[in-house]
Amino acid sequence: MSESCSLDSQPWKDFLAKPSLPFVLRLLSGLCKGHAKTQQLVGDKCIPAIHRLEQISSEEGIGSLAENLMEALKTNPEVAKKIDEVRAQTKAEKKRRAMAMRQKQLGALGMSTNEKGQVTASRTVFQQMEDLVEESGLTCCICREGYKYQSQKVLGIYTYTKVAVLEPFELKSKKTQGYSTVSHFNIVHYDCHLAAVRHNVYLPECSGYREPTYHATLHDLKLLLLRYVQEQSFSSDSGGGGRQSNMHLIPYMIHMALYVINTTRCVPREEKNLTSFLKHPPSKWVELSYELDGPHYYSLLALHIFSPEKWDEHKVTLLKQLLVSAQARTVSPGGTKSLSDKAVKDYSIYKAALMYFGLIEVLYSVLLKDASKPEESWSQSVANYIRHNDEALIKNADKVLSTYEKDFQPCESFAEFCDVGGLLVKIPDPDMYLAELLNSVSYVLA
Ligand SMILES: [Zn+2]
Repeated sequence: MSESCSLDSQPWKDFLAKPSLPFVLRLLSGLCKGHAKTQQLVGDKCIPAIHRLEQISSEEGIGSLAENLMEALKTNPEVAKKIDEVRAQTKAEKKRRAMAMRQKQLGALGMSTNEKGQVTASRTVFQQMEDLVEESGLTCCICREGYKYQSQKVLGIYTYTKVAVLEPFELKSKKTQGYSTVSHFNIVHYDCHLAAVRHNVYLPECSGYREPTYHATLHDLKLLLLRYVQEQSFSSDSGGGGRQSNMHLIPYMIHMALYVINTTRCVPREEKNLTSFLKHPPSKWVELSYELDGPHYYSLLALHIFSPEKWDEHKVTLLKQLLVSAQARTVSPGGTKSLSDKAVKDYSIYKAALMYFGLIEVLYSVLLKDASKPEESWSQSVANYIRHNDEALIKNADKVLSTYEKDFQPCESFAEFCDVGGLLVKIPDPDMYLAELLNSVSYVLA
């Protein structure tokens, strides 16, 4: 019988099934005991086979009978040497298999053993551990994981959204209504939120159904920006967060608008709307100050549609329209087609309009400073940038707030604003500029 055959092979199975086997082993043990020549004879060829038998556990006690035979054989030094060899071989083989299994299990954990048998962890494990402490982007407020661990699970933002008048100066008996959103910027997985609501253990301030029109979203964002520039509370009437948490929300509102603009392929249409708005003659500007989609709306739309270069090219026109709207709304809150008072007013009258413009400037230059991709449209690259840079956006949003609060808000005159905003190249004499602007917008009777 071949020694290398597995015990499961048919020859071995047949052999082990023989009823005579236990008797043969007993007999051989008796014969070998104290008889060197028999020991020699059996030891010459049968050691590997007997060794196999001694590893068998069976009802007939084959294993221990074979072991007894080995003991009888071992008193012969030559045979004893063979027995030790074959047993050592088996031991080594078992150890090898055990080590292989250990390596396999350690490997699954990203670890291995060195020559000394010490367990070492591979680089990737440390990498993962670093990632573990480095989930520094957006994380779910329930499970504490973010896109690094659960890249497929969608994160959402809890917001407070209420119905609001979109443009208080709109000249309609029933002013257009939309939404106004504020947030503590608490992030949650959509799944975790649903699970928590189902189990009723965590019932946060759920946001209601939102109409996915980007027009509504842009007005919503406009109202949010106005809270900054008019230094209104974020929580007094809506109960939602502060200056920082709401600043963190801004990129996601931009993304929400852009998602719809891009997927419905509305960029060309909105580019056209924006261009026609910019082409209105100054004589129409006073009237436009009372439109729902006036200079505030279009300045914000520009952020979503115009590349920074294009914004730079057209921004002064929007700035002028914002200034005219501030004047018109102050001197004629109930609406007018021409300015009844063209005298330059105190800076405080223009401040909110200028701050609004300044905030959009900072959103371009700080929040979205790395968003531009030459191979994509601005709308597409901003959407992609926001989608993939949660960590950078948090930092940038903080910087937007500090730049806005430290540079723009403390301005005390239009001239100072132009200086801070880098506008002196385009507006070298701010005081003259404002007076000339207000005189240029006379309504011409056709
Ligand atoms: Zn979660």
